[in-house]
Amino acid sequence: MISEKMRPLVENNSVIRVMFEEGKRLAAIYGKENVYDFSLGNPNVPAPDEVREAILEILNEEESTFVHGYMSNAGYEDVRQTIACSLNERFETEFGADNILMTVGAASGLNVILKTILNPGEEVIVIAPYFVEYGNYVANYDGKLVVVPPNTKDFQPDLKGLESRITKKTKAVIINTPNNPTGVVYSHDTLRCMADILKKKEQEFGSVIVLISDEPYRELAYDGVKVPYVTKYYRDTVVCYSYSKSLSLPGERIGYLVIPDELKDSREVFTAVSIANRVLGSVNAPSLMQRVIKRCIEKGARVNLAAYDRNRNRLYEGLKECGFSCIRPEGAFYLFVKSPVADEKKFCSRASAHNLLLVPGSSFACPGYVRIAYCVSYEQIERSMPAFRALAKEYGLVKA
Ligand code: PLP
Repeated sequence: MISEKMRPLVENNSVIRVMFEEGKRLAAIYGKENVYDFSLGNPNVPAPDEVREAILEILNEEESTFVHGYMSNAGYEDVRQTIACSLNERFETEFGADNILMTVGAASGLNVILKTILNPGEEVIVIAPYFVEYGNYVANYDGKLVVVPPNTKDFQPDLKGLESRITKKTKAVIINTPNNPTGVVYSHDTLRCMADILKKKEQEFGSVIVLISDEPYRELAYDGVKVPYVTKYYRDTVVCYSYSKSLSLPGERIGYLVIPDELKDSREVFTAVSIANRVLGSVNAPSLMQRVIKRCIEKGARVNLAAYDRNRNRLYEGLKECGFSCIRPEGAFYLFVKSPVADEKKFCSRASAHNLLLVPGSSFACPGYVRIAYCVSYEQIERSMPAFRALAKEYGLVKA
């Protein structure tokens, strides 16, 4: 019954989801408070109050047939205009409503842009470690995923590795900054050099290489770190944004694509992404949520970043004290920790015996590391510390 293309997806069902199920199983045995589930990037910080206020105001003030009706496949024009203005204010860009397409989150935005640009057999380059779903999204349109191996020194992309993998079949490069799973923010220099490489290769092959900047974590950056705006570095950029993390709304499925005027054939691409949104079955992004986003932007709504920051510091310091090694993340809500043994899956199994649920780095094409999602309660982090210490002791990382 299941198609040939679908079968491998069923067989390799996401490790992260499996871990999530394992967490539920352990919780039933040991009690929820004794299981330390760090597997899923599901925000624990509540959506800001403005979200609830906006929903109530909209339901009370706006016409029901308008709020719940169909609209243009690109989304409400006033919402798109508000987003464009907000970007312009913050990043000195010059976008208008016609550069913004509302999407059903970043997952949908990525599918929309890939459907729009990919011919079968064309290559999409990703930089390890990368969000595992990219492979599935590229396969949806019969593209070929090409992986740049990780630069484990600082997890900035290996630009030489990128350059050597670009061919005349390269249609797109996907980057994600702040990064899942490392928490690294790609620096100004990284983006400048990456843009130079892509421009050079476009000229060499006479092709267009689209840089897709997947940015669900843009607003989650700490210590005053600036996340450079990618359209300012490279002409053929498409930004894929989501409110899943920035407003803690992952279940509401709302985000947008930016199709800048500078992008080759920008107007044609904009029409095409609107159609892709429709034919992929989303038709348009959720109507109520679009209206909510407008009000939230106008009120400057933000999630409580300080809560993630506190978790980050506690966990980072705690793991260091236990003898684990990891780079200090500047953004997102993940720590990418070096496994004390090469086979990190074995390490994850040992961790799970201490009720610690961690995701193996091989799920992100970066074996030898594990991802810890710290979008959990501070109390969970505090309670988990003895378990991390016991785990570290097993590997001889701490004595006491
Ligand atoms: N891209 C990255 C790097 C992610 O980590 C996620 C979700 O965790 C997504 C895309 C999908 O986000 P959304 O909920 O907006 O579809």
